[in-house]
Amino acid sequence: MIPQNFEYSAPANLNEALALLAGGKAKVLAGGMSLIPLMKLRLAAPEQLVDLGHVPDLKAIREEAGSIRIGAMATHYEIESSPLVRGKCPLLAEAAAHIGDLQVRNMGTIGGSIAHADPAADYPASLMALEVQVRLVSSKGERTLAIGQFLTDALTTALEPGEIVREVIAPVEAPGAGVSYQKMVQPASGFAIVGAAARVRRSGGKVSFIRVGITGLAGKAFRATNVEKLLEGTAGSSADIQKAAAVVADGVDANSDLFASADYRRQMAKVYTARALTQAVSRAS
Ligand SMILES: Cc1cc2nc3c(=O)[nH]c(=O)nc-3n(C[C@H](O)[C@H](O)[C@H](O)COP(=O)(O)OP(=O)(O)OC[C@H]3O[C@@H](n4cnc5c(N)ncnc54)[C@H](O)[C@@H]3O)c2cc1C
Repeated sequence: MIPQNFEYSAPANLNEALALLAGGKAKVLAGGMSLIPLMKLRLAAPEQLVDLGHVPDLKAIREEAGSIRIGAMATHYEIESSPLVRGKCPLLAEAAAHIGDLQVRNMGTIGGSIAHADPAADYPASLMALEVQVRLVSSKGERTLAIGQFLTDALTTALEPGEIVREVIAPVEAPGAGVSYQKMVQPASGFAIVGAAARVRRSGGKVSFIRVGITGLAGKAFRATNVEKLLEGTAGSSADIQKAAAVVADGVDANSDLFASADYRRQMAKVYTARALTQAVSRAS
């Protein structure tokens, strides 16, 4: 349970951090909630750690040009409790509140969570439903990717060596929208066996806008556009919701592990998608 020796640096600003990472050998340390256990188990043995915990620019949560910008080092607790996120991007605050326990939420960061890309992580369902952009930076420059391009597979992202997540850019939620994140909790870890996030707007008694994101079911989180198509334009009745949720796992190569078989996950995905849709529809005005 003792990690291999490593060098540790704690840069005080972003340029210093990017210079230390430029060689591509050093690994970023954020909250350490995923990386440190891996190092203690010797499943990861980085030679150098660059701790982003002292880089102030990376912690900011702010509104800019109709978007909510969340710095990579914002902790789950800061996101859950931010009045700006709760008021203008409530789905993300709700997802953050579902993560692990208080200690994990106080240490773990959104940048660390999406860079780690655990297929059972909570944020990705909401990030898919919110169609967020992920801003990346390295010593060579910047680029911005849609979340669906950033998460490429289980534990795999589009991050290049030396590149870090700088911020996550989410839309300001429309007035009157209803949102919900529902998850089946893995009782030992708190991770999602399946998790479903929904955003709904209503107009003239019909569902006029719908986004659904799913985590835990497959190797990477995805947007369930088949569910969205079935529900859009309906009254959003219980029957409409059940019919739409029933297709969520169609064609999905479902994960299977000690906690839940692929068939069980598919079934639970339908149940939790229906729950998220029901709550989001009931909250939409
Ligand atoms: C007991 C326990 C329960 C948990 N339960 C849940 C849960 O219910 N739901 C859930 O979603 N998660 C859960 N987690 C995981 C938690 O959310 C972690 O916070 C998260 O996965 C990693 O974030 P971190 O900031 O700790 O990153 P770290 O562990 O520091 O880093 C993780 C990885 O991301 C890289 N990295 C970190 N920041 C960046 C960045 N800005 N740019 C590029 N790469 C970066 C690191 O190099 C490393 O490879 C749990 C963890 C624990 C220990």
